[in-house]
This record gives sequence, C-alpha cells and structure tokens, in this order.
Amino acid sequence: MPVQDTLSRPLRDLRISVTDRCNFRCVYCMPKTVFGRDYSFLDRKELLTFEEIATLARAFVANGVEKIRLTGGEPLLRRDIERLVAMLAEIPGLDLTLTTNGTLLPQKAEALRAAGLTRVTVSLDSNDDAVFKAMNDVDFPVERVLEGIEAAAAAGLTPVKVNMVVKRGVNDASIVPMARLFHGSGHILRLIEYMDVGATNGWRLDEVVPAAEIVQRISAELPLEPAAQNYPGEVARRWRYRDGGGEIGVIASVTQAFCHDCTRARISAEGKLFTCLFAQRGTDLRALVRRGAADDELAAAVAGVWRGRADRYSEIRSSETAAVPKIEMSYIGG
Ligand code: SF4
Repeated sequence: MPVQDTLSRPLRDLRISVTDRCNFRCVYCMPKTVFGRDYSFLDRKELLTFEEIATLARAFVANGVEKIRLTGGEPLLRRDIERLVAMLAEIPGLDLTLTTNGTLLPQKAEALRAAGLTRVTVSLDSNDDAVFKAMNDVDFPVERVLEGIEAAAAAGLTPVKVNMVVKRGVNDASIVPMARLFHGSGHILRLIEYMDVGATNGWRLDEVVPAAEIVQRISAELPLEPAAQNYPGEVARRWRYRDGGGEIGVIASVTQAFCHDCTRARISAEGKLFTCLFAQRGTDLRALVRRGAADDELAAAVAGVWRGRADRYSEIRSSETAAVPKIEMSYIGG
C-alpha cells in the first residue's frame, strides 16, 4: 500500500548513489582539500550489490516511487553499471535516469540506452576551460563533457539536462555564455543556487547568486517567460525563451525553498536511507537486505521511515544551520 500519510509529500522520487568515488573534485561537493589522495572511500564489499539495489528499489516502488535516479560520486565509474540499469528497467512503469559528469558518456551512452535508461543529466559548471578546470580540478577541456552530452543525445537519452551550480565570484560570469551555448540546442540548462551541502565546501550566503538574479541576467539578452511545472514536486522552476529557443530550469533551494512538495528520498552506496539532502544521519537498510528480509518487510521499513519524515531544511536554513555537519553530497548524490 503506497504511503499516502504525508499527502502533500508522497514518496515518488528515489536517488540511488552507486559509488562515492569520482574523477572530478568539484569545489562545491568534493573539494580536493578534503577528498585528497589519502581520503578513504567506501570499500567494495561495503557497497550494495546490484541485486541488493534492485531488491531495495522494489521496496520503494511498492511505496509509490515512480522515478529512480542513479547518482554518485560519478555513477559511470561503477563497473558494469549497464547491468544494474537493465535490472532496474525490468521494474514496470519506472522512469530511470542518471546524473553524470559526462566524461564517460561517449563510451557508455548507447549501452545505457539499450539497457533501459531513459534520460541523463550532465553536470557542467562553465563552458570556459579555465573556470571549468579550476572548479573541478581536472586537466582536460570542456569539450570532453560537450562530447558526452552529444553522445547521450545521439543515443536517445533525451532531453539531456545540463546542471550548472552557480557560485558568485567563481563561475557566475559563465551564466549568460552557458545560456547562449544551449539556447536552441534542445538540451535544458538548469542553473542551481550554490548550497550548503555537507560540511566541507565552506559555504557562505554571499556566494549565492539568487535565482531571480540568474533569470534577470539571462533574460536581459535572451528574454524569458515563466513556464508551468511538468509535475508536482518538480525541483526546477521552468522558464521558456520567448523566441522559441527552448527552456531553462532554475533550482533555488536557498532563496525559494521547495520543501513543501519534496517527494525525494536518497540511498547511499552502502544502503543508508536519507530523507533529505541536508540530513545528518540515515537509516541502515543494508542490514535488513543482507539478513534476507522479505519484500513486504523491506517495504514496511521504508514506509515507517517516510511516515516519520519531518525534513524541511531549506525552510529553516540559517548561518547557524549551515555549520551543522551534514552528510556529503558526494556520498549520496544531488
Ligand atoms: S531541503 Fe530536504 S526536504 Fe527540503 S527540498 Fe531539499 S531534500 Fe527536500
């Protein structure tokens, strides 16, 4: 029986982290000062196996989940990820997506599509090589990610969404150039307010570019008009180009909190359930799976956690809460 008790916030969207490792070191979610060479990532035996992930996915679908997003770290670093996609694609009626930094898409896009993946979201914080390299601590050009985006589109993983986290003084000068780049491309640029995720990115409120300013900057050159949400609980506010050049999304967790219709749960790579991106602790589901709990027992465990959910972090955010140690985004994905 789907969980209907939190009527305004039913469980609909599950994000599954399949690894905490990544080949990038983004300043806002995996700063190299913390996630350096000696950082101890999860050991392979700690990770949920694909079979365990599929078992848990069924327990969430039994509770009303309609969409699963595979995240990380960088999910395409997990070996044979296509096999997991194929296992999850067997679950009827599931919208299966994935968030990636795009660098492995040229090799993997066709196989992911064939395995049953529906769409991808690619993270790209600037189309300026110097800014891109500095923000992600990589030594290759933006072109590598753009090739990944085109490979995904060619494979039919569309529409491709492009996530850009905007940090004032770091990449905000790229807002309009990125809009120009994807205007008329069919890809959907989504601009994200810089957030106090985890406890390692040194977040400050004055480094946030508010959604209203982002829209105003783009609209000054490429006029925009508001567009209706695609579905309740959609994270991004949609804006359409008046000239028919497509749309953008703006994710305003800091200045326009959207906890009131948040329908998202997250599972970490080693099987902990988190009911908020800014949670401080999770519920271990792996132990249940590994001791052979039946599907209905797992479904009941998920229902119990969701029923007790009271998260509304973005509505209570303050300079005090920003300092509270929270789980790292690189650990449970966005
Ligand atoms: S802060 Fe937590 S409750 Fe609010 S929208 Fe984000 S994930 Fe949902």
